[in-house]
Amino acid sequence: MKNISLIGSTGSIGENALAVIKAHPEHFRVVGLAAKSNIRKLRRQIEEFHPKMVCVYEESAARILERRLGKAKVKIVTGESGLKEVARISEVDTVLCGAVGAGGLSAIFAAIESGKDVGIANKEPLVMAGDLIMQKAKKRRVRILPIDSEHSAIWQCLHGQNGRAHIEVKRLILTASGGPFLGKKKDELTNITPAEAIKHPRWRMGKKISVDSATLMNKGLEIKEAHHLFNVPIEKIDILIHPEAVIHSMVEFVDGSHMAQLAVNDMKLPIQYALSYPHRFEMNLPKLDFVKIRSLTFDLPDRRTFPCLNLAYEVWKQGGTAPAVLNAANEIAVDRFLNGQLTFLGIPRLIERVLSSHKNKSNPDLEAILEADRWAREKALTL
Ligand code: MG
Repeated sequence: MKNISLIGSTGSIGENALAVIKAHPEHFRVVGLAAKSNIRKLRRQIEEFHPKMVCVYEESAARILERRLGKAKVKIVTGESGLKEVARISEVDTVLCGAVGAGGLSAIFAAIESGKDVGIANKEPLVMAGDLIMQKAKKRRVRILPIDSEHSAIWQCLHGQNGRAHIEVKRLILTASGGPFLGKKKDELTNITPAEAIKHPRWRMGKKISVDSATLMNKGLEIKEAHHLFNVPIEKIDILIHPEAVIHSMVEFVDGSHMAQLAVNDMKLPIQYALSYPHRFEMNLPKLDFVKIRSLTFDLPDRRTFPCLNLAYEVWKQGGTAPAVLNAANEIAVDRFLNGQLTFLGIPRLIERVLSSHKNKSNPDLEAILEADRWAREKALTL
């Protein structure tokens, strides 16, 4: 039996994770839940899964939930300290983080420090502080479990490498569906609305990651995520456009052999694999019908139309606090785009302007990273 704390339980990853847990009551149990403010959904989850502790990040929402629950047997905590408390519950084995953006970073550190395995679905914490997270995990001998579909695919392809991946892997190939604007040129993207940008052709996801998929920044972030998770240098990680999104990513080995993972598009699969690893459990998903799919196609990404990819490669090579700045500037830019304050093409421009006024600091500690994150958020709001 694996005891689980779930950070971001009311979001898209959180709900999929609860569906996986519900399907395997003999293997998984919910002990802690954390959400930002959606207490209506959280209340239903409490009634169904009976966690020991829940964190409602926003204090006022926590108070309302407390009143509504009456004397139900659940401890309610709030804010950053509450988030950490849910990650540290003593009987918890694995903490799953599916928060939005940089959310959950402190919970990830708290979980590692208290010896829990951590499944990370949101890539931003690894983008900001990947070196620190991986170092700390190694020291505390806990696993960082990939959940992002591409990274789960690579992890599955590397199964059996027994720590020799750094010698035997020639390159990682992250596949990208290309997002809703695949094949479009810059002049066709001037009047894009938020509703058009969040309509992803293959995956149903939260708004932030959907916009990132449309700008290709999502792939940019995934490069750094893969670099940390698999200890492969940035230059050995390539992006391949694959609109059918059947191959979730590939590994090329030094002998020229390629391994790929193929499956239907459902986040429940990578979530369940992270929880069942190194085993596999039954899963009730539609069959991957190759005859119906007929053909798989591939292309190079259009870096001129989608400059976020180049921005990301450049900044990852620089390292230091710049990755946290890029990430924060992107979060604010996406937010401003969704609120109608910025055009779609204005997203990379804003990120570039924030980056150009940043003084990069090498080998930052967590404090320096969080400071760069705060600075970049403020800057991105004023430009
Ligand atoms: Mg992904």
